[in-house]
Amino acid sequence: MTQSGPNTRPALIAYHLFWNAVDWVFPPRCGGCDQSGERWCEDCQQKVTRLGETCCECCGEPLEQPGLCEQCRRRPPAFKALRSWCAYRDPARQAIHRLKYRRDIGLAEALAAPLLGQVHALGWKIDVVTSVPLSPARLRQRGYNQASMLAYPVALSLGKPFRAGLLVRNRDTASQVGLSAAERERNVQGAFSARPVPGQSILVIDDVITTGSTMNACAQALQAAGATAVYGLSYARAIIADHSVPIHPFS
Ligand SMILES: [Zn+2]
Ligand SMILES: [Zn+2]
Repeated sequence: MTQSGPNTRPALIAYHLFWNAVDWVFPPRCGGCDQSGERWCEDCQQKVTRLGETCCECCGEPLEQPGLCEQCRRRPPAFKALRSWCAYRDPARQAIHRLKYRRDIGLAEALAAPLLGQVHALGWKIDVVTSVPLSPARLRQRGYNQASMLAYPVALSLGKPFRAGLLVRNRDTASQVGLSAAERERNVQGAFSARPVPGQSILVIDDVITTGSTMNACAQALQAAGATAVYGLSYARAIIADHSVPIHPFS
């Protein structure tokens, strides 16, 4: 990273300084192992299962060979590309759980850090950054959207606007786990709507991707609102073939 690189943008530096000050006042505990001192310790970062480079060009599902996966060949998704940083396994799973349910929102700064490098390496042309929304009822209950907490530093790093309310979740959806492709599609049908984004290329951030159907529904809503391209990026991804991965009901 050069001195004039995207991670030296003043707004991003101010954002990091803010969280450093918070850490100084309230010493953090690690989101993975709960040790005090750091929000996301070196040890836990090392234990995260990175996803391999070889994946479906469109949906990012790990593949043996480069190209398109069976599902994307049969029915291309509405998004142009979807990528994730790591597998949804411990300690990443524990960290996301803590970000989501234990109000440890400072953890988002640490978890988003590798996404900044990843999004620059991907070279997507982005106009606006947003996040997969919670329903208004769940947002009131939780007080914040964990996906927005990850999306904000990514937008700062890209130097693009972050629009939290671009997508609206019209209703809560049941867990996508264990549903067939058709059932998943029905489950998220009409679940999202989007504010007008004529001619814009949109990056949608989520914390965990389970099947990609939610991101697809978001992309459909954004396209209907005039978006020319939709990209998706998540911190973690539940690898469908890996049945040992416990999946969270509202991810
Ligand atoms: Zn740790
Ligand atoms: Zn695919």
